[in-house]
Amino acid sequence: MQVIDLLVIGGGTSGYMVASGASQAGLKVILTEKSHSLGGLSVSSGCVPSKTMMAISEQINCANKLRQSGIIKSKLKTNLQKINSKIFKITDKIKNSTQIQTLTSKGVKVIFGKCSFIEPNIAVINNEKIKFKQAVIATGSRPIIPDYKNLDKINFITHEKIFDLDKMPETLLIVGATMSSLEFAQAFTNFGVKVTVIEHNNFILEKMDQELSWKIYVSLIKMGVTILTGYKIIDCYPIKENKMLECIDNQGAKHSLQAEEVLINLGQRPNIEALGLENAAVKFFERGIVVDKKLRTSNKNIFAIGDVNNLSENFTHIAEHHANVILRNLINKSSKCINNTMIPIVMYTTPEFAQIGLTEHQAIKKYGQAIKILKFNFSDTDSGIIFENTEGLIKVILHEAIIIGVSIFGYRASELISEWCVAMQNSMSIKSLANTIRAYPSISVINKRVASTGIYSGSFSLPNWKNRGFFAKILPKLLLRS
Ligand SMILES: Cc1cc2nc3c(=O)[nH]c(=O)nc-3n(C[C@H](O)[C@H](O)[C@H](O)COP(=O)(O)OP(=O)(O)OC[C@H]3O[C@@H](n4cnc5c(N)ncnc54)[C@H](O)[C@@H]3O)c2cc1C
Repeated sequence: MQVIDLLVIGGGTSGYMVASGASQAGLKVILTEKSHSLGGLSVSSGCVPSKTMMAISEQINCANKLRQSGIIKSKLKTNLQKINSKIFKITDKIKNSTQIQTLTSKGVKVIFGKCSFIEPNIAVINNEKIKFKQAVIATGSRPIIPDYKNLDKINFITHEKIFDLDKMPETLLIVGATMSSLEFAQAFTNFGVKVTVIEHNNFILEKMDQELSWKIYVSLIKMGVTILTGYKIIDCYPIKENKMLECIDNQGAKHSLQAEEVLINLGQRPNIEALGLENAAVKFFERGIVVDKKLRTSNKNIFAIGDVNNLSENFTHIAEHHANVILRNLINKSSKCINNTMIPIVMYTTPEFAQIGLTEHQAIKKYGQAIKILKFNFSDTDSGIIFENTEGLIKVILHEAIIIGVSIFGYRASELISEWCVAMQNSMSIKSLANTIRAYPSISVINKRVASTGIYSGSFSLPNWKNRGFFAKILPKLLLRS
């Protein structure tokens, strides 16, 4: 029987990072992966292909804008096979950075095959027993498939199959208004598909800032996406080439919805089956493996990281953060805990949505009226006007002058939020953000503008030419008076 220091189960984002780092630090490491390649969900059907699709969708959106202003004459026609082949090319490029050779050159032994525990410190891979001092479970997640009546009778798709479609559907029903659903809804609408999103809750993005969720909802409706909230699916059946969903709304009325393709996208469930967790005394629930703040399971020598544990949201940057915490604790023998509050959440629609810390609703619940809210519209920035991205709003929440939450709906919100991540992580004051000079007319000027409203009551910040006109009228009078 082989005896090793560390067994890593799962070769996705988090498993790959832990195996690579631990091996470089001198540990004897085996990484086992049940599929035929490394990289996991992020490169197979998660972030990378979906964001590549969003990038193509945004380019089409820009071209449509140019067509509306007469700069481009002809109407755009999209070709799904060409779109998918571009997605594969880009995904492949990124996948190549997670090659087996890269890992083995760092000293990791990679074994493809199914792995399960047979004892608290022994696992079996392809009938071979492996004794480990410590193990990291990084087996990720897969799509939730609901138990709707007759769902198996329709040939539905999940995100695992959406990038394999060989023909652009005329109509698409998306079940579940998750963030990735809204991204897919926007992309396919830009590709010319008639998209309907069905959500059983009464609102979309309930955990996000409600004012901004509403703006996102309106923005998607305006571009042509149909969003049906408060709809429950009661039956499914095929109808000629199409698929039919029977729904009941929250008023009790029945609706029949038909489309060429149905995408089930209700979120992810952890990959915990067939791991023999009971044999290793590792506790788990339906939502994932139970871990403490150091990502230890109920077996103190086994850790669970990324999507497979029961913590917070599923994101690649969280999986990476978990891998970093594990590495620091294993290698440096430190006792670092995970950071569960400073996690940015981003939706890559156009405009994008990004959030960190508390929402307005959560802040009021926690601190009552002892909060201050700063807001600034993208339409009041020169960059918004120049780049024709005036839709959106940034909202900053302060409690006793400390930044406790930021929500942004607007152009490049995914980049704008980074500054707030750094500011919050390092307890920077709103004043230091207001006083930092940004290049004009970059999009990031909006971060300065919103911060300025918190300390200068608007008088020394120059929000836009409209307000500068007012400022210019008042300032000479004030100067004359003094
Ligand atoms: C459509 C979509 C879009 C997304 N977009 C984003 C985004 O824009 N930004 C973002 O941050 N996140 C995004 N995510 C989430 C992100 O992809 C995941 O959170 C991340 O990939 C999780 O990494 P992980 O290491 O936990 O698991 P994974 O990367 O999934 O790796 C798990 C690995 O374990 C293997 N495995 C499973 N069971 C076993 C077993 N028994 N034995 C051996 N190996 C096993 C799997 O084959 C897989 O390779 C998106 C997800 C989806 C579905």
